[in-house]
Amino acid sequence: MAKQVVHPKIRGFICTNAHPVGCAKNVETQANYVRQAVPSRQTGLNALIIGASTGYGLASRVALATSYGANTIGVFFEKPPVGKKTGTAGYYNSFAFHKHADRQGVKALSINGDAFSDKIKFETIDSIKKELGQVDLIVYSLASPRRIHPRTGEDYRSVLKPIGKPYSDKTIDLVKEEVVNISVETATKKEISDTIAVMGGEDLTFWVDYLLEHDCLKPGAQVVAYSYIGPEITHQIYTSGTIGQAKDDLQQHVDNIDKKLSQEIGGNAFVSVNKAVITQASAAIPVIPLYISILYKIMDSKGINENPIAQITRLFTEHLFSENGPELDDQRRIRLDDRELSIEVTDQVKQVWSQITTENLHHLADYNRYKTGFRNLFGFDVENVTYDQEVETDLFLP
Ligand code: NAD
Repeated sequence: MAKQVVHPKIRGFICTNAHPVGCAKNVETQANYVRQAVPSRQTGLNALIIGASTGYGLASRVALATSYGANTIGVFFEKPPVGKKTGTAGYYNSFAFHKHADRQGVKALSINGDAFSDKIKFETIDSIKKELGQVDLIVYSLASPRRIHPRTGEDYRSVLKPIGKPYSDKTIDLVKEEVVNISVETATKKEISDTIAVMGGEDLTFWVDYLLEHDCLKPGAQVVAYSYIGPEITHQIYTSGTIGQAKDDLQQHVDNIDKKLSQEIGGNAFVSVNKAVITQASAAIPVIPLYISILYKIMDSKGINENPIAQITRLFTEHLFSENGPELDDQRRIRLDDRELSIEVTDQVKQVWSQITTENLHHLADYNRYKTGFRNLFGFDVENVTYDQEVETDLFLP
Protein backbone atom coordinates (compact mmCIF):
# COMPACT_ATOMS: atom_id res chain seq x y z
CA MET A 1 0.00 0.00 0.00
CA ALA A 2 1.34 3.44 -0.87
CA LYS A 3 -1.01 6.25 0.02
CA GLN A 4 0.22 9.60 -1.17
CA VAL A 5 -0.81 13.01 -2.50
CA VAL A 6 -0.16 13.10 -6.24
CA HIS A 7 0.55 16.34 -8.07
CA PRO A 8 1.43 16.46 -11.78
CA LYS A 9 5.03 16.29 -12.91
CA ILE A 10 4.80 17.82 -16.37
CA ARG A 11 7.42 19.20 -18.66
CA GLY A 12 6.42 20.04 -22.23
CA PHE A 13 4.59 17.11 -23.74
CA ILE A 14 5.86 14.69 -21.08
CA CYS A 15 4.07 13.88 -17.82
CA THR A 16 5.92 11.39 -15.67
CA ASN A 17 3.17 10.49 -13.21
CA ALA A 18 -0.57 9.93 -13.09
CA HIS A 19 -3.47 10.26 -10.66
CA PRO A 20 -5.35 6.98 -10.20
CA VAL A 21 -8.62 8.57 -9.09
CA GLY A 22 -8.56 11.08 -11.97
CA CYS A 23 -7.88 8.25 -14.43
CA ALA A 24 -10.79 6.23 -12.99
CA LYS A 25 -13.08 9.26 -13.36
CA ASN A 26 -12.03 9.60 -17.00
CA VAL A 27 -13.00 5.99 -17.69
CA GLU A 28 -16.33 6.54 -15.92
CA THR A 29 -17.01 9.72 -17.92
CA GLN A 30 -16.38 7.87 -21.16
CA ALA A 31 -18.67 5.04 -20.08
CA ASN A 32 -21.40 7.53 -19.16
CA TYR A 33 -21.07 9.22 -22.53
CA VAL A 34 -21.46 6.04 -24.53
CA ARG A 35 -24.24 4.80 -22.25
CA GLN A 36 -26.39 7.82 -23.03
CA ALA A 37 -25.47 7.79 -26.72
CA VAL A 38 -26.01 4.10 -27.50
CA PRO A 39 -28.68 1.94 -25.87
CA SER A 40 -26.92 -0.92 -24.17
CA ARG A 41 -27.24 -4.32 -25.82
CA GLN A 42 -25.76 -7.76 -25.37
CA THR A 43 -24.02 -8.66 -28.58
CA GLY A 44 -21.88 -11.44 -27.16
CA LEU A 45 -18.98 -9.86 -29.03
CA ASN A 46 -15.39 -10.66 -28.19
CA ALA A 47 -12.97 -7.90 -29.14
CA LEU A 48 -9.19 -7.61 -29.19
CA ILE A 49 -7.93 -4.05 -28.81
CA ILE A 50 -4.25 -3.49 -29.55
CA GLY A 51 -3.25 -0.19 -27.90
CA ALA A 52 -6.14 -0.35 -25.42
CA SER A 53 -4.97 1.78 -22.49
CA THR A 54 -5.24 5.41 -23.65
CA GLY A 55 -6.63 7.62 -26.44
CA TYR A 56 -8.63 6.02 -29.23
CA GLY A 57 -7.92 2.45 -28.13
CA LEU A 58 -9.23 3.00 -24.58
CA ALA A 59 -12.33 4.75 -25.96
CA SER A 60 -12.93 1.75 -28.22
CA ARG A 61 -12.59 -0.66 -25.33
CA VAL A 62 -14.92 1.36 -23.07
CA ALA A 63 -17.56 1.72 -25.81
CA LEU A 64 -17.45 -1.99 -26.67
CA ALA A 65 -17.74 -3.16 -23.06
CA THR A 66 -20.36 -0.61 -22.05
CA SER A 67 -22.85 -0.44 -24.88
CA TYR A 68 -22.17 -3.62 -26.79
CA GLY A 69 -21.71 -5.96 -23.83
CA ALA A 70 -18.41 -7.05 -25.33
CA ASN A 71 -15.74 -9.13 -23.63
CA THR A 72 -12.45 -7.43 -24.36
CA ILE A 73 -8.83 -8.40 -24.41
CA GLY A 74 -6.62 -5.32 -24.35
CA VAL A 75 -2.93 -5.17 -25.23
CA PHE A 76 -0.84 -2.17 -24.16
CA PHE A 77 2.59 -1.13 -22.95
CA GLU A 78 2.30 0.58 -19.55
CA LYS A 79 4.21 0.83 -16.31
CA PRO A 80 2.73 -0.35 -13.00
CA PRO A 81 3.47 1.65 -9.84
CA VAL A 82 6.79 1.00 -8.09
CA GLY A 83 7.13 2.25 -4.52
CA LYS A 84 6.36 5.99 -4.49
CA LYS A 85 6.45 6.17 -8.26
CA THR A 86 2.93 6.07 -9.65
CA GLY A 87 1.87 3.85 -12.51
CA THR A 88 1.38 5.39 -15.94
CA ALA A 89 -2.01 6.83 -16.88
CA GLY A 90 -2.68 3.90 -19.22
CA TYR A 91 -1.99 1.49 -16.37
CA TYR A 92 -4.49 3.21 -14.05
CA ASN A 93 -7.01 3.59 -16.90
CA SER A 94 -6.81 -0.15 -17.45
CA PHE A 95 -7.13 -0.86 -13.73
CA ALA A 96 -10.28 1.29 -13.67
CA PHE A 97 -11.51 -0.38 -16.84
CA HIS A 98 -11.32 -3.83 -15.21
CA LYS A 99 -13.50 -2.59 -12.33
CA HIS A 100 -15.92 -1.13 -14.85
CA ALA A 101 -16.05 -4.38 -16.85
CA ASP A 102 -16.79 -6.33 -13.63
CA ARG A 103 -19.72 -4.02 -12.93
CA GLN A 104 -20.92 -4.45 -16.52
CA GLY A 105 -20.69 -8.22 -16.19
CA VAL A 106 -18.32 -8.59 -19.14
CA LYS A 107 -14.90 -10.22 -19.26
CA ALA A 108 -11.77 -8.06 -19.33
CA LEU A 109 -8.35 -9.51 -20.02
CA SER A 110 -5.26 -7.38 -20.26
CA ILE A 111 -1.82 -8.14 -21.64
CA ASN A 112 0.83 -5.59 -20.69
CA GLY A 113 3.90 -5.78 -22.92
CA ASP A 114 5.35 -5.09 -26.35
CA ALA A 115 2.62 -5.75 -28.93
CA PHE A 116 5.26 -5.89 -31.67
CA SER A 117 6.86 -8.97 -30.11
CA ASP A 118 5.94 -12.58 -30.88
CA LYS A 119 5.94 -13.29 -27.15
CA ILE A 120 3.04 -10.92 -26.49
CA LYS A 121 1.20 -12.08 -29.62
CA PHE A 122 1.38 -15.70 -28.41
CA GLU A 123 0.38 -14.73 -24.87
CA THR A 124 -2.64 -12.96 -26.34
CA ILE A 125 -3.52 -15.97 -28.48
CA ASP A 126 -3.27 -18.29 -25.45
CA SER A 127 -5.51 -15.97 -23.48
CA ILE A 128 -8.08 -15.76 -26.30
CA LYS A 129 -8.15 -19.55 -26.64
CA LYS A 130 -8.51 -20.11 -22.93
CA GLU A 131 -10.98 -17.36 -22.05
CA LEU A 132 -12.83 -16.27 -25.17
CA GLY A 133 -12.44 -18.96 -27.80
CA GLN A 134 -12.36 -16.56 -30.75
CA VAL A 135 -12.71 -12.84 -31.38
CA ASP A 136 -15.15 -10.99 -33.64
CA LEU A 137 -13.32 -7.68 -33.84
CA ILE A 138 -9.74 -6.42 -33.79
CA VAL A 139 -9.12 -2.73 -33.12
CA TYR A 140 -5.59 -1.63 -33.99
CA SER A 141 -4.75 1.60 -32.15
CA LEU A 142 -1.01 1.51 -31.53
CA ALA A 143 1.03 4.71 -31.42
CA SER A 144 4.67 4.00 -30.74
CA PRO A 145 8.00 5.71 -31.37
CA ARG A 146 9.88 2.39 -31.58
CA ARG A 147 9.60 -1.20 -32.78
CA ILE A 148 11.99 -4.06 -32.32
CA HIS A 149 11.36 -6.29 -35.30
CA PRO A 150 10.29 -9.71 -34.00
CA ARG A 151 12.04 -11.62 -36.79
CA THR A 152 15.26 -9.67 -37.38
CA GLY A 153 15.77 -8.05 -33.98
CA GLU A 154 16.35 -4.71 -35.71
CA ASP A 155 15.52 -1.69 -33.53
CA TYR A 156 13.50 0.86 -35.55
CA ARG A 157 12.72 4.42 -34.40
CA SER A 158 10.03 6.49 -36.04
CA VAL A 159 10.59 10.19 -36.81
CA LEU A 160 8.13 12.98 -37.55
CA LYS A 161 9.79 14.71 -40.47
CA PRO A 162 8.85 16.17 -43.85
CA ILE A 163 9.90 14.47 -47.07
CA GLY A 164 11.61 16.19 -49.99
CA LYS A 165 12.21 19.61 -48.47
CA PRO A 166 12.76 21.03 -44.98
CA TYR A 167 9.72 22.31 -43.17
CA SER A 168 9.28 25.47 -41.18
CA ASP A 169 6.10 26.64 -39.48
CA LYS A 170 4.54 27.75 -36.23
CA THR A 171 4.26 25.55 -33.19
CA ILE A 172 3.76 25.99 -29.44
CA ASP A 173 6.75 25.71 -27.19
CA LEU A 174 4.86 23.80 -24.48
CA VAL A 175 7.40 24.68 -21.79
CA LYS A 176 7.50 28.44 -22.42
CA GLU A 177 3.91 28.55 -23.73
CA GLU A 178 4.95 30.67 -26.68
CA VAL A 179 4.17 30.46 -30.36
CA VAL A 180 7.53 29.91 -31.99
CA ASN A 181 8.87 28.83 -35.34
CA ILE A 182 10.04 25.30 -35.78
CA SER A 183 12.25 24.04 -38.58
CA VAL A 184 12.50 20.35 -39.32
CA GLU A 185 15.04 18.87 -41.72
CA THR A 186 13.85 16.58 -44.45
CA ALA A 187 13.88 12.86 -43.60
CA THR A 188 16.55 10.55 -44.96
CA LYS A 189 15.52 7.42 -46.88
CA LYS A 190 16.37 5.32 -43.83
CA GLU A 191 14.25 7.49 -41.55
CA ILE A 192 11.32 7.07 -43.92
CA SER A 193 11.65 3.29 -44.07
CA ASP A 194 12.23 3.06 -40.30
CA THR A 195 9.06 5.06 -39.62
CA ILE A 196 7.14 2.74 -41.94
CA ALA A 197 8.60 -0.24 -40.05
CA VAL A 198 7.25 1.17 -36.76
CA MET A 199 3.91 2.74 -37.68
CA GLY A 200 3.10 0.96 -40.98
CA GLY A 201 0.99 -2.15 -41.39
CA GLU A 202 3.43 -5.07 -41.16
CA ASP A 203 2.75 -5.63 -37.47
CA LEU A 204 -1.02 -5.76 -38.00
CA THR A 205 -0.49 -8.30 -40.79
CA PHE A 206 1.59 -10.42 -38.38
CA TRP A 207 -1.21 -10.21 -35.79
CA VAL A 208 -3.91 -11.23 -38.24
CA ASP A 209 -1.82 -14.06 -39.72
CA TYR A 210 -1.11 -15.55 -36.29
CA LEU A 211 -4.74 -15.19 -35.21
CA LEU A 212 -5.91 -16.91 -38.40
CA GLU A 213 -3.32 -19.67 -38.05
CA HIS A 214 -4.45 -20.36 -34.50
CA ASP A 215 -8.14 -20.25 -35.41
CA CYS A 216 -8.78 -17.28 -33.13
CA LEU A 217 -11.03 -15.33 -35.53
CA LYS A 218 -14.76 -15.96 -35.73
CA PRO A 219 -16.37 -16.26 -39.15
CA GLY A 220 -17.07 -12.72 -40.39
CA ALA A 221 -14.53 -11.14 -38.01
CA GLN A 222 -13.69 -7.48 -38.66
CA VAL A 223 -10.50 -5.45 -38.28
CA VAL A 224 -10.34 -1.69 -37.91
CA ALA A 225 -7.09 0.31 -37.80
CA TYR A 226 -6.91 4.02 -36.98
CA SER A 227 -5.31 6.66 -39.15
CA TYR A 228 -5.13 10.43 -39.58
CA ILE A 229 -4.97 12.84 -42.52
CA GLY A 230 -5.60 16.41 -41.26
CA PRO A 231 -5.84 19.73 -43.11
CA GLU A 232 -3.45 21.19 -45.66
CA ILE A 233 -1.58 23.28 -43.09
CA THR A 234 -0.26 20.15 -41.38
CA HIS A 235 0.29 18.06 -44.53
CA GLN A 236 4.00 18.71 -44.88
CA ILE A 237 4.74 17.42 -41.37
CA TYR A 238 2.03 14.75 -41.24
CA THR A 239 0.32 13.31 -44.31
CA SER A 240 3.10 14.09 -46.79
CA GLY A 241 5.78 13.36 -44.21
CA THR A 242 7.26 10.18 -42.74
CA ILE A 243 4.19 9.32 -40.65
CA GLY A 244 1.93 9.78 -43.69
CA GLN A 245 4.05 7.23 -45.56
CA ALA A 246 3.62 4.82 -42.68
CA LYS A 247 -0.15 5.38 -42.71
CA ASP A 248 -0.20 4.70 -46.50
CA ASP A 249 1.62 1.45 -45.79
CA LEU A 250 -0.94 0.64 -43.08
CA GLN A 251 -3.73 1.21 -45.61
CA GLN A 252 -2.08 -1.16 -48.13
CA HIS A 253 -1.70 -3.85 -45.48
CA VAL A 254 -5.32 -3.37 -44.39
CA ASP A 255 -6.49 -3.75 -48.01
CA ASN A 256 -4.56 -7.03 -48.26
CA ILE A 257 -5.88 -8.21 -44.89
CA ASP A 258 -9.39 -7.41 -46.11
CA LYS A 259 -8.92 -9.71 -49.12
CA LYS A 260 -7.45 -12.46 -46.96
CA LEU A 261 -10.22 -12.24 -44.35
CA SER A 262 -12.94 -12.16 -46.94
CA GLN A 263 -11.56 -15.30 -48.64
CA GLU A 264 -10.78 -17.27 -45.52
CA ILE A 265 -13.52 -16.37 -43.03
CA GLY A 266 -15.88 -13.94 -44.78
CA GLY A 267 -14.45 -11.04 -42.73
CA ASN A 268 -13.37 -7.48 -43.51
CA ALA A 269 -10.69 -4.96 -42.63
CA PHE A 270 -10.97 -1.18 -42.71
CA VAL A 271 -8.96 1.91 -41.95
CA SER A 272 -10.85 4.54 -39.99
CA VAL A 273 -9.53 8.07 -40.43
CA ASN A 274 -10.23 9.81 -37.14
CA LYS A 275 -10.13 13.48 -36.19
CA ALA A 276 -7.33 15.22 -34.29
CA VAL A 277 -7.74 14.83 -30.53
CA ILE A 278 -5.62 15.47 -27.46
CA THR A 279 -3.67 12.30 -26.66
CA GLN A 280 -0.15 11.47 -25.54
CA ALA A 281 0.72 10.53 -29.12
CA SER A 282 -0.60 13.73 -30.71
CA ALA A 283 1.10 15.93 -28.07
CA ALA A 284 4.47 14.70 -29.32
CA ILE A 285 3.93 15.82 -32.92
CA PRO A 286 5.31 19.29 -33.69
CA VAL A 287 2.64 21.79 -34.79
CA ILE A 288 -0.29 19.54 -33.72
CA PRO A 289 -0.84 20.99 -30.19
CA LEU A 290 -1.13 24.48 -31.71
CA TYR A 291 -3.38 23.16 -34.46
CA ILE A 292 -5.61 21.37 -31.93
CA SER A 293 -5.86 24.51 -29.76
CA ILE A 294 -7.21 26.38 -32.79
CA LEU A 295 -9.34 23.51 -34.06
CA TYR A 296 -11.07 22.88 -30.72
CA LYS A 297 -12.03 26.54 -30.34
CA ILE A 298 -13.58 26.61 -33.81
CA MET A 299 -15.29 23.22 -33.59
CA ASP A 300 -16.56 23.96 -30.05
CA SER A 301 -18.05 27.26 -31.22
CA LYS A 302 -19.96 25.36 -33.90
CA GLY A 303 -21.01 22.63 -31.45
CA ILE A 304 -19.36 19.93 -33.58
CA ASN A 305 -16.23 19.08 -31.59
CA GLU A 306 -15.70 15.44 -30.63
CA ASN A 307 -13.35 13.71 -28.22
CA PRO A 308 -12.19 10.09 -28.66
CA ILE A 309 -15.28 8.53 -27.08
CA ALA A 310 -17.61 10.62 -29.27
CA GLN A 311 -15.66 9.67 -32.39
CA ILE A 312 -15.64 5.99 -31.51
CA THR A 313 -19.34 6.05 -30.69
CA ARG A 314 -19.90 7.36 -34.21
CA LEU A 315 -17.56 4.72 -35.65
CA PHE A 316 -19.65 1.95 -34.11
CA THR A 317 -23.15 3.35 -34.56
CA GLU A 318 -22.79 4.82 -38.06
CA HIS A 319 -20.26 2.41 -39.55
CA LEU A 320 -19.03 -0.85 -38.05
CA PHE A 321 -22.27 -1.94 -36.38
CA SER A 322 -24.74 -0.08 -38.59
CA GLU A 323 -27.27 -2.09 -40.55
CA ASN A 324 -25.69 -1.21 -43.89
CA GLY A 325 -22.10 -1.63 -42.73
CA PRO A 326 -19.47 1.09 -42.97
CA GLU A 327 -19.76 3.95 -45.41
CA LEU A 328 -16.43 4.18 -47.24
CA ASP A 329 -14.69 6.87 -49.31
CA ASP A 330 -13.21 6.19 -52.74
CA GLN A 331 -10.13 4.69 -51.10
CA ARG A 332 -12.18 2.30 -48.97
CA ARG A 333 -11.67 4.30 -45.76
CA ILE A 334 -14.15 5.18 -43.01
CA ARG A 335 -14.03 8.97 -42.52
CA LEU A 336 -14.68 10.21 -38.98
CA ASP A 337 -12.70 13.35 -39.81
CA ASP A 338 -15.51 14.72 -42.01
CA ARG A 339 -16.32 17.56 -39.59
CA GLU A 340 -12.67 18.49 -38.97
CA LEU A 341 -12.07 18.64 -42.71
CA SER A 342 -15.30 20.43 -43.67
CA ILE A 343 -14.54 23.55 -45.72
CA GLU A 344 -16.02 25.91 -43.13
CA VAL A 345 -13.73 24.51 -40.41
CA THR A 346 -10.53 24.27 -42.49
CA ASP A 347 -11.00 27.79 -43.91
CA GLN A 348 -11.38 29.25 -40.44
CA VAL A 349 -8.40 27.29 -39.10
CA LYS A 350 -6.27 28.52 -41.99
CA GLN A 351 -7.22 32.12 -41.33
CA VAL A 352 -6.42 31.89 -37.62
CA TRP A 353 -3.21 29.99 -38.36
CA SER A 354 -1.86 32.89 -40.43
CA GLN A 355 -2.54 35.38 -37.61
CA ILE A 356 -1.62 33.45 -34.48
CA THR A 357 1.18 34.72 -32.23
CA THR A 358 2.10 34.39 -28.54
CA GLU A 359 0.22 37.63 -27.83
CA ASN A 360 -3.11 36.55 -29.30
CA LEU A 361 -2.79 32.80 -28.48
CA HIS A 362 -5.44 32.83 -25.75
CA HIS A 363 -7.78 34.96 -27.82
CA LEU A 364 -7.59 33.16 -31.17
CA ALA A 365 -7.05 29.64 -29.86
CA ASP A 366 -8.20 27.72 -26.81
CA TYR A 367 -4.80 26.89 -25.46
CA ASN A 368 -6.10 26.55 -21.90
CA ARG A 369 -8.49 23.87 -23.13
CA TYR A 370 -5.56 22.08 -24.73
CA LYS A 371 -3.57 22.30 -21.50
CA THR A 372 -6.45 21.05 -19.39
CA GLY A 373 -7.10 18.29 -21.91
CA PHE A 374 -3.47 17.26 -21.73
CA ARG A 375 -3.46 17.25 -17.92
CA ASN A 376 -6.72 15.26 -17.96
CA LEU A 377 -4.94 12.48 -19.88
CA PHE A 378 -2.94 11.77 -16.73
CA GLY A 379 -5.89 12.10 -14.37
CA PHE A 380 -5.15 15.71 -13.35
CA ASP A 381 -7.56 18.69 -13.35
CA VAL A 382 -10.45 16.25 -13.55
CA GLU A 383 -13.73 17.48 -12.10
CA ASN A 384 -14.79 16.17 -8.68
CA VAL A 385 -11.36 14.87 -7.72
CA THR A 386 -9.81 16.23 -4.54
CA TYR A 387 -6.16 16.57 -5.34
CA ASP A 388 -4.83 17.51 -1.91
CA GLN A 389 -6.01 14.21 -0.44
CA GLU A 390 -3.85 11.12 -0.21
CA VAL A 391 -4.82 8.37 -2.63
CA GLU A 392 -3.83 4.74 -2.99
CA THR A 393 -1.33 4.52 -5.85
CA ASP A 394 -0.40 0.86 -5.37
CA LEU A 395 -3.08 -0.53 -7.65
CA PHE A 396 -2.32 -3.58 -9.75
CA LEU A 397 -4.01 -5.22 -12.70
CA PRO A 398 -5.31 -8.73 -12.11
P1 NAD B 1 -2.13 7.02 -27.48
O1 NAD B 1 -0.74 7.46 -27.24
O2 NAD B 1 -3.20 7.60 -26.63
O3 NAD B 1 -2.27 5.41 -27.34
C1 NAD B 1 -1.30 4.53 -27.81
C2 NAD B 1 -1.57 3.14 -27.29
O4 NAD B 1 -0.57 2.27 -27.84
C3 NAD B 1 -1.47 2.98 -25.77
O5 NAD B 1 -2.45 2.05 -25.33
C4 NAD B 1 -0.09 2.39 -25.55
O6 NAD B 1 0.07 1.62 -24.37
C5 NAD B 1 0.00 1.51 -26.78
N1 NAD B 1 1.35 1.14 -27.17
C6 NAD B 1 2.37 1.92 -27.59
N2 NAD B 1 3.46 1.18 -27.88
C7 NAD B 1 3.12 -0.11 -27.63
C8 NAD B 1 3.79 -1.35 -27.73
N3 NAD B 1 5.04 -1.45 -28.18
N4 NAD B 1 3.14 -2.48 -27.35
C9 NAD B 1 1.87 -2.42 -26.88
N5 NAD B 1 1.17 -1.27 -26.81
C10 NAD B 1 1.78 -0.14 -27.16
O7 NAD B 1 -2.41 7.25 -29.02
P2 NAD B 1 -3.68 7.70 -29.90
O8 NAD B 1 -3.50 9.13 -30.24
O9 NAD B 1 -4.95 7.23 -29.32
O10 NAD B 1 -3.36 6.90 -31.24
C11 NAD B 1 -3.89 5.63 -31.51
C12 NAD B 1 -4.08 5.51 -33.02
O11 NAD B 1 -5.02 6.52 -33.44
C13 NAD B 1 -2.79 5.75 -33.82
O12 NAD B 1 -2.78 4.89 -34.91
C14 NAD B 1 -2.97 7.20 -34.30
O13 NAD B 1 -2.27 7.47 -35.49
C15 NAD B 1 -4.47 7.24 -34.52
N6 NAD B 1 -5.04 8.60 -34.57
C16 NAD B 1 -4.75 9.50 -33.58
C17 NAD B 1 -5.26 10.80 -33.69
C18 NAD B 1 -4.96 11.84 -32.64
O14 NAD B 1 -5.21 13.02 -32.92
N7 NAD B 1 -4.51 11.48 -31.47
C19 NAD B 1 -6.07 11.15 -34.78
C20 NAD B 1 -6.37 10.18 -35.74
C21 NAD B 1 -5.85 8.90 -35.63
